[in-house]
Amino acid sequence: MLTLTDQELFRYDRQIALHGFDIDRQQVLKNSTVLIIGLGGLGCAASLYLAASGIGKVTLIDFDTISESNLNRQILYTPKSINQYKVDIAKQKLSQINPNMIIDTINQKLVDSELMTVIKQHDIVIDCTDNLTSREQINRCCFQEKKPLVSGAAIRMEGLLTVFNYEDDQPCYHCLSQLFGQNQLTCIEAGVMAPLVGMFGSIQALESIKVLTKYGKPLVGRVLMVDGMTMEFNQVTFAKQSNCIICGNQHTTQAIKCK
Ligand SMILES: [Zn+2]
Repeated sequence: MLTLTDQELFRYDRQIALHGFDIDRQQVLKNSTVLIIGLGGLGCAASLYLAASGIGKVTLIDFDTISESNLNRQILYTPKSINQYKVDIAKQKLSQINPNMIIDTINQKLVDSELMTVIKQHDIVIDCTDNLTSREQINRCCFQEKKPLVSGAAIRMEGLLTVFNYEDDQPCYHCLSQLFGQNQLTCIEAGVMAPLVGMFGSIQALESIKVLTKYGKPLVGRVLMVDGMTMEFNQVTFAKQSNCIICGNQHTTQAIKCK
């Protein structure tokens, strides 16, 4: 296990000072690896806070390049970044924030088997993607690897956030997505307010730190729902669906198709 240098003890003093967090948990962060999938609005905010808070290694996955319409909310990028790969600019910016953090990047779409290989090498996965197909893929691969997943979504003025730990009695993302039906909008169709994705990306970073260091009570089996219009915060609990094709009781390994 890598120990904290004197400089790091100083840099992370305000976290180390937190009651019950201490040097031990800061050291866990230094030895942690986080996979961030999607470097849009959520991924920019989540990765910035994880870099600043002392995570040892992150891998960034996104196959998109930066466009003008990303700049309202994807705060790692500037007008000069347009047409460049998101992961390349993100890596540059994050290494300025934390030169000690190791940053790997992947700028292509992965099939399930490739994604599972990458997931296996990390302690936690953060889903910052913006579409149902990717979310379902990340969920089934994390379920297979039993790797904790922090899932966030923000659209219009609303956001959702939850954490999956894939313990036997706990639900998966598909248990939840079955409940909302087929009506999935994207930000292109519906729009999204800039600070809302920043809020949710920040909460994803916070929940990741909690899961990695076993600090506090992560949002497992509960969904945080925020309505930015009225600033109402609500939580609903949700349970494992026994008929879920991913984690349900009928589940067999053959039920999960690997591309
Ligand atoms: Zn499920």
